[in-house]
Amino acid sequence: MNNNYIATPTRTREILRKYQFQFKKSLGQNFLIDVNILENIIKKAGIDHESGVIEVGPGIGALTEQLAIHAKKVVAFEIDQRLFPILDDTLKQYNNVQFIHQDILKADVIQVIKDNFTPGQVIHIVANLPYYITTPILMKLLQENLPITSLTVMIQKEVAARMAAVPNSKSYGSLSIAVQYYTHAEIVMQVPNSVFMPQPNVDSSVLKLTIRETPPVDVINEEYFFTLVKAAFFQRRKTLRNNLTNYFAKSFSKEEVNQLLDKAGIDGTRRGESLTIEEFAVLANTFTRL
Ligand code: SAM
Repeated sequence: MNNNYIATPTRTREILRKYQFQFKKSLGQNFLIDVNILENIIKKAGIDHESGVIEVGPGIGALTEQLAIHAKKVVAFEIDQRLFPILDDTLKQYNNVQFIHQDILKADVIQVIKDNFTPGQVIHIVANLPYYITTPILMKLLQENLPITSLTVMIQKEVAARMAAVPNSKSYGSLSIAVQYYTHAEIVMQVPNSVFMPQPNVDSSVLKLTIRETPPVDVINEEYFFTLVKAAFFQRRKTLRNNLTNYFAKSFSKEEVNQLLDKAGIDGTRRGESLTIEEFAVLANTFTRL
């Protein structure tokens, strides 16, 4: 192993000292200092020398460097201007990396893909995400219907558990359905705090989201489907019937909600957390057809 990789405690400290870089907690800056973890992430992501990769938040380049070594091309979005002179220095020996100074939430990722990758090229998103905006970032990237194969991301353990949760489990909720509508979700690694500098005070997991070619269920109206899912989980401890009645009080009477549940063949005394994505689709389609 090359001891001079960025992702080592010694080299990271050296870079931080050289540039007198102060971490911004508000930007979720926790840099990776363990090459083995990075190589494992890259293996799990399925990166090879033909892959195009999009990274969110390169920091001082720990993950970016390993991506540059294993992939064909890497495009990385970074919001913190102070990191650009550092990245120009730490990654100067790699000519397959492109940096974009932009908030990922405001970026036109489709255009960036068109500009940087070849048609038909397999593209993966790989990132150690800033934890304060994990969910908005992932939902943006999923909803934009990007021509990508997968997203492999380091995120807070509890959020990963919610995204990959199955019915009747503690973590299952509207986020599980939202993510699993677009992807097959799998937790591929649990990560100790010791691999970060500075160490975050939450535990982390690596989540792999493999994009589905088509959604797992047919829904008549996607927006309505997601609204209904949200309604079903509105108050977790309440029955489905109560949550739907309260949430849709302006549109449907209690009797109408009961009739719709009957028509969908779903017992209103169940809780939202027991419904599969297929059952949510049947329910949403019954409500939509009204
Ligand atoms: N990839 C590096 C690593 O693993 O060592 C750094 C990861 S650090 C957890 C998150 C990075 O995302 C930071 O560099 C931070 O400045 C950047 N970041 C935070 N918010 C962002 C945003 N909205 N758009 C793009 N980058 C962002």
